[in-house]
Amino acid sequence: MLSLRLRFRLVSPGSRRTAVYPLDSSPSHLYVALQRMSRSSRERTVTTPVVLIPGDGIGPEVTAAARAVVHAAGAELQWVQADAGIGAAERHGDPLPEETLQRIRQYRVALKGPCTTPVGKGFRSINVRLRQELDLYASVRPVHSLPGVNTPYQGVDLVVVRENTEGLYSGLEHVVVPGVVESLRIITRTAADRIVRFAFDLARNRGRRRITFCHKADVLPLSDGLFLATARSVADDFPFLEFEELHVDALCMQLALDPTRFDVLVMENLFGDVLSDLCSGLVGGLGLVPGANIGSRYAVFEAVHGSAPDLAGKGLANPIAVIRSAALLLEYIGQAQAAGRIERAVRQTLQASRGLTRDLGGNGTTATITQAVISHLGEEQP
Ligand code: NAD
Repeated sequence: MLSLRLRFRLVSPGSRRTAVYPLDSSPSHLYVALQRMSRSSRERTVTTPVVLIPGDGIGPEVTAAARAVVHAAGAELQWVQADAGIGAAERHGDPLPEETLQRIRQYRVALKGPCTTPVGKGFRSINVRLRQELDLYASVRPVHSLPGVNTPYQGVDLVVVRENTEGLYSGLEHVVVPGVVESLRIITRTAADRIVRFAFDLARNRGRRRITFCHKADVLPLSDGLFLATARSVADDFPFLEFEELHVDALCMQLALDPTRFDVLVMENLFGDVLSDLCSGLVGGLGLVPGANIGSRYAVFEAVHGSAPDLAGKGLANPIAVIRSAALLLEYIGQAQAAGRIERAVRQTLQASRGLTRDLGGNGTTATITQAVISHLGEEQP
């Protein structure tokens, strides 16, 4: 008996994608297919302005590498340059000029290189100022084991969520009497609630199961006591997720023993700063771990590492952390395909172990590792 199968073709506007479906496909099947195609065609046609702050130290080198990779991945971005860092202080009399803040307010999203804070010169950290001015209250740092990177642990897959605007970074210090200085560690219920809620929402949306809250409420019963009580109250709204409380010192020990048992970590500002570097070390170092500073209106993406003055200008810095921060940015603005291509190319580069920088055990440069990532992008289907 002759059987006749009718088929028709969906053609995505603005792209070369076509797909053939049997005529008897279910409406929901076709709806999903149309959604996918329109999403991919949108990714190809919408050019998003994004502020680029090269920063100082190794910043200009590693952000230039990230730009090259983002471009090669086919992302639709238009970079809007803005100034910050030591050079900006010389050029504008302010290391974080108002014009730079205005650009981020206008375009909402930025990729930032590291900025130096001179020690003991009365200079207020540019990074702290930026986070406070734009209310970028959540610092998010995904920490994964990566292929080809030699570390004592495999299978690490956690996210550090750090409160970004208060605690000891409130910048409130004064001399009480000569020889006695006081620094205020500000904790508010509002900021504690929104950061813990952010961590729970992140877990829920990313298929993660357990939130570990770390504190020092035994020694700081008022400030960390308030943070802990607030965290418990937020956890009560999410009974379907696991909530765990640990003293910060116990958490450090547990991370050193077995980091694979952790999922989402949430904590106040200073603990988060210290633990972010510790967690970077667990998966291969500061050159690898990306980060995002997220607020309700603006988002600034940057690596965990600083300006590495020991490497600045030598072409030896590892750009992977900033390249991966740019991938997080692309995901944030809805260009998930380009983000995925970059992340896969980074993993293939590390696995292939060619052109790697010294921090990864290679003898390559910023240029060779960037080129390696770009060449792996070429293996991807656009
Ligand atoms: P750092 O992260 O700059 O450097 C610590 C160590 O890690 C150094 O040995 C450095 O060579 C190495 N390292 C860092 N990034 C690397 C990379 N991409 N590739 C290879 N090796 C890398 O920390 P630091 O020395 O404490 O700070 C230097 C300056 O950076 C300070 O002024 C600090 O305030 C500032 N800082 C800025 C940011 C930021 O802009 N977000 C973050 C942290 C520190």
